[in-house]
Amino acid sequence: MPTNIKKEKSSKKGSSPYPKKKTEHPEFRKGKSEYILCPACYSVYYNKAWHHALSGDKHFKETKEARFVICPADKMIKEKEYEGQIIMENVPAVIKYDLFHLVENMAARAFHDDPMDRVISIKEKNGRIEILTTENQLAQRIAMKIKESFKNKMGSGWQISHSHREDPLRIIWK
Ligand SMILES: [Zn+2]
Repeated sequence: MPTNIKKEKSSKKGSSPYPKKKTEHPEFRKGKSEYILCPACYSVYYNKAWHHALSGDKHFKETKEARFVICPADKMIKEKEYEGQIIMENVPAVIKYDLFHLVENMAARAFHDDPMDRVISIKEKNGRIEILTTENQLAQRIAMKIKESFKNKMGSGWQISHSHREDPLRIIWK
């Protein structure tokens, strides 16, 4: 039955919200191993984890099928959700530049180490700085790093608290 192949191909991912790409390579067709690609950040999923596409190049060539699925981090960002939150109040103007720089560096490093670890946003409003992340642990790491980096400059005039795991981390300068 020569039509089988076509039928199978078109019906297989009928429920997928992502249309078949015109640029799809023959390598991506149905095969024994599956390959998931996020269309937003180009991260790839294999071996039960998300990886950067570059680090997956070798794997990429070996697989026969790809599915386009938005990754959990981009899904979270798209739906305006977050898991980690840091709220900073009364941040002295003199440290703001270094503070933002520190957070941006940590964000870049976190993303490099794990494409699901993202700083979603850094917002400043009425002297209050809010940092949102896709992972609680990342928020904790950033808060600890801020503490480490600025405690000498701030003396004892600040505090960090998180009474509950899901609560925001609060850093308050007095
Ligand atoms: Zn993604």
